[in-house]
Amino acid sequence: MKDYHTHHIRPCGGSLCSVTPDDWERVAAAEGMTPCFGVHPWHAHAVQEPAEFAFELDEWLCRYPTAEVGETGLDASERHKPTLETQRLLLHLHLGAAFRHERLVHLHGVHAWAELLGILKERARCNTLPRVLLHAWNGSHEMAREFLALGAVFSVGYRELSHPRAVERYARIPAERLFPESDDRPELWPQTLALFRLLRADK
Ligand SMILES: [Zn+2]
Repeated sequence: MKDYHTHHIRPCGGSLCSVTPDDWERVAAAEGMTPCFGVHPWHAHAVQEPAEFAFELDEWLCRYPTAEVGETGLDASERHKPTLETQRLLLHLHLGAAFRHERLVHLHGVHAWAELLGILKERARCNTLPRVLLHAWNGSHEMAREFLALGAVFSVGYRELSHPRAVERYARIPAERLFPESDDRPELWPQTLALFRLLRADK
């Protein structure tokens, strides 16, 4: 099974997400992985010139026709709240690029699933919604249903799968829309897969 969202080169293959533009060269060169170009919301402050960034992202997506977009998203936790305005601007740039280039976009959402849902719904209304993957998904059923209606897929890792309410949270998401991820913990991949399979066997 491939790793649907990771920041490490993985023997099983998968989507290798960058965290800043300085990381794009590395992910593009990784053999056997799908490179993902983006700026993680934790590094929003690293982008000085958003317009320049948008041009660069376009260029890299043209150059790598099978690449995906990410990691991007919103993080409204205390620590990252101060950059929320920049995060929002960057998120829109990523979503626009993903839509134009018809790529999947990897979304991070901490204390921000509701806002993300609103943004995606608005894009759906305007017919500018790209395919999205919600990584480390831990939202409610009600919200999952709304994201599913927008065509979203989800990935979950060890932290989410070992949560006491994991079965209740994930069992109702259709199998073809829920995937395993290692994110920043590749060493936990065997345990992640074991928990992921248990969840599926439970159905
Ligand atoms: Zn990540």
